[in-house]
Amino acid sequence: MLRSTLLAAARSGVVRAAVEAGPFEPLVQRFVAGTTVDAAIAAARTITTDRLVTVDHLGEDTTDRAQADALVAAYRSLLRRLGDEGLADRVEVSVKLSAFGQRLPRDGEKIALDSARQVCEAAAAVGTTVTVDMEDHTTTDATLTTVRDLRLDFPWVGAVLQSQLRRTEGDCRDLAGPGSRVRLCKGAYDEPESVAYRSAAEVDLSYVRCLKILMSGRGLPMVATHDPRLVAIARHLAQRYGRSVRDYELQMLYGVRPNAQTDLAARGLQVRVYLPYGTEWFGYFMRRLAERPANLAFFARSLMSR
Ligand code: FAD
Repeated sequence: MLRSTLLAAARSGVVRAAVEAGPFEPLVQRFVAGTTVDAAIAAARTITTDRLVTVDHLGEDTTDRAQADALVAAYRSLLRRLGDEGLADRVEVSVKLSAFGQRLPRDGEKIALDSARQVCEAAAAVGTTVTVDMEDHTTTDATLTTVRDLRLDFPWVGAVLQSQLRRTEGDCRDLAGPGSRVRLCKGAYDEPESVAYRSAAEVDLSYVRCLKILMSGRGLPMVATHDPRLVAIARHLAQRYGRSVRDYELQMLYGVRPNAQTDLAARGLQVRVYLPYGTEWFGYFMRRLAERPANLAFFARSLMSR
């Protein structure tokens, strides 16, 4: 109920204005590296001493073509910087197709594909990779089609699947082929019962079934969760299917369980941190609040002390 309310608020202009004007900087800073490329590069440099990184230039639900084009330009300059700074072997980028105009009424999917293609070209030029984030279930088919199209030229493009969706075991089977990079997460969006498991236990069981498919397949599973039980199961399955620590990644969000991240990296596991930066932090921030009641309590205390 609380999660649904917060996720609905993530799409409200009124709540957005109130939150952006509020004194929430310390909490936002926990989850977002900063507003500038310099801030993202500095954070990436620190993290890459023991972990890998995927950088997200924040943005979603773009409403006009100019915004989509500006985001492509931002990614291109980010990728150039990663190359110039010698970070491209440890840092890739993540993109959201809605930020590239996927939902624009005219030619949205084509515009998003062309934009993502330009980002892939810039990534290839510096020798790194791109992963396409997954948004709500209304976009799953379109996003997977775009990933397939991109993979014709850039076979290393990563896909994201969400265990909360009932369809995902089938998608895992489709995407577990040789070289296929697949990030498996639980799913951050409020989805209807008709397409999604609604209880945490069902989402977790689905996650394990999907992990088995990916770990026994021939791609690169990217296990995106902070859930210690699922991390342990992933490590166990990797061993069972004869994968070395180089043959899969554990992925976590910037600011979430940082001690677990460094601890796993110290044990020799490949840990990749999802590192967001930029001014469009509102939607991302609200999803992080929705994931954990303790974040909300902190948020409420800040609100009351205004
Ligand atoms: P949970 O059961 O939610 O959490 C397990 C434990 O982790 C919690 O008990 C808590 O200790 C800690 N924790 C989890 N979230 C938080 C938080 N916000 N603040 C503080 N502690 C927390 N979702 C998508 O829908 N599409 C994507 O493309 C996508 N990409 C992702 C990429 C990465 C690398 C990661 C790690 C997550 C991504 N997500 C994405 C979000 C994901 O779907 C979940 O919403 C999120 O990871 C929380 O689920 P969990 O697996 O950590 O398990």
